[in-house]
Amino acid sequence: MQRIPHIINGRQVSEAERYGPVFNPATGAQEKEVALASAARVEEAIQAAQEALPAWRATSLARRTAIFFKVRELLTERKAELAAILTSEHGKVLSDAEGEITRGLENIEFASALALGLKGERSEQVATGVDVHSIRQPVGVVACITPFNFPAMVPLWMIGSALACGNTVLLKPSEKDPSAAVFIAELFAEAGLPDGVLNVVHGDKEAVDVLLEHPVVKAVSFVGSTPIARAIYRRAAEHGKRVQALGGAKNHMVVLPDADLDMAADAAVSAAYGSAGERCMAVSVLVAVGNIADDLVEAVRSRMTDLKIGPGTDPSSQMGPLITAEHRDKVASYVAGAADEGATVVVDGRDTAFDGDGFFLGVSLLDHAKPGMKAYDDEIFGPVLSVVRVETYADAVRLVNENQYGNGTAIFTRDGGAARAFEFDVETGMVGVNVPIPVPVGSFSFGGWKDSLFGDTHMYGPDSIRFYTRGKVVTTRWPDPATSEIDLGFPQVL
Ligand code: NAD
Repeated sequence: MQRIPHIINGRQVSEAERYGPVFNPATGAQEKEVALASAARVEEAIQAAQEALPAWRATSLARRTAIFFKVRELLTERKAELAAILTSEHGKVLSDAEGEITRGLENIEFASALALGLKGERSEQVATGVDVHSIRQPVGVVACITPFNFPAMVPLWMIGSALACGNTVLLKPSEKDPSAAVFIAELFAEAGLPDGVLNVVHGDKEAVDVLLEHPVVKAVSFVGSTPIARAIYRRAAEHGKRVQALGGAKNHMVVLPDADLDMAADAAVSAAYGSAGERCMAVSVLVAVGNIADDLVEAVRSRMTDLKIGPGTDPSSQMGPLITAEHRDKVASYVAGAADEGATVVVDGRDTAFDGDGFFLGVSLLDHAKPGMKAYDDEIFGPVLSVVRVETYADAVRLVNENQYGNGTAIFTRDGGAARAFEFDVETGMVGVNVPIPVPVGSFSFGGWKDSLFGDTHMYGPDSIRFYTRGKVVTTRWPDPATSEIDLGFPQVL
């Protein structure tokens, strides 16, 4: 069986005390196993990152930039190969896997402009003969802990900027689909990144705990579920690290009565069931405002019957399997319980039959969902769309704002005034106007509000430069030594 190694100091390390299974979700077969790092193995990787730090932070911006240009070239050339890895371990269809890589490449492009992002400021003559300038320096060794659902894009969200800013990195990808991180680290090495600058350690809680507590690790970037994000934020902060921990989501798509219902239904189906609903920006709640609910539900339902669900390698598949059998069963349990909670099961994905042992589940649509029902309150993270019917725009905004999560939301309308009010009123970090999945482009930053993000800075883009660097301000004067005198007063700006 193929073993997925750690990458420590430029070397593949496969020996481990424990290994985790890696499945092909389309067949249900375990095809690989991944080395799970012990505390000692993580320690070894931290040491490699620490030793590589002085030379990397001293590497010129020009040299760093050249590496990022090369990484972009290599990732573009080998996109199909990486997409095949994503599909074989995550299950998403190949076109979606390629889309994930393309969006991840935006972060490499942003990192290629590091000479601009890292520019400081300078003020001349702030006092007589005194100048001040500011610089930004790397925080040091950074830990990046990533979820299963975007095995290439989320690592690229983090490592692009972390490395560009002069840090060395320990990447701990999801143990469910870990090969993409290894592939990416090897491309960075091929592009000229020195050994030890980007290390990949696989593992579970045992490995993560070391990263959260080790004094050499100065910053932690995390993306995953809310309970783990909250725990990571607390623990790493307690150990003196800066932390950004992005959590789960329940994204509402609000449809106003004036919206084009066909366009809204197309968007809802795409955003709810794409990648089997395993996207942190997936639409999981459709909010029908006013008297359009019956028509909207019918428009969505009619589009669901033709969705082609099958292996991600089949070009005709629009949706693949879920990540594991356990997760598939958990998602199905929400549909099973929905009717007892008072929702109407319009389409039951459990009725769709599949050949073989893959972790497939059909798409589900629940109508008359409400707060207080598990199917509404919990992040299901699967192909289940719940419809909530409300009377007014104000009811829709209240629903979104009272939700525990605040990752993304969208409004569908032809009314610019309503859209502007929504942008102003709504309490989420990312808003789409007639855009169902408003993931910001790489020149902006990504992050939610409320229980979707613990910390202050969002991920990638301009916020990432602030997160991965420390500011330093230098005050300079070059007086004539002959004018020197003792003055015990506090320095005044004159
Ligand atoms: P997860 O929280 O189970 O795992 C995320 C990472 O944490 C993995 O690397 C995992 O190995 C590690 N981990 C798991 N349990 C741990 C523990 N007890 N202690 C320390 N580390 C632990 O999340 P997942 O199932 O891999 O990913 C899906 C979740 O991620 C969903 O909730 C989704 O909404 C969220 N997500 C959020 C965003 C965002 O930007 N907000 C993006 C993608 C995914």
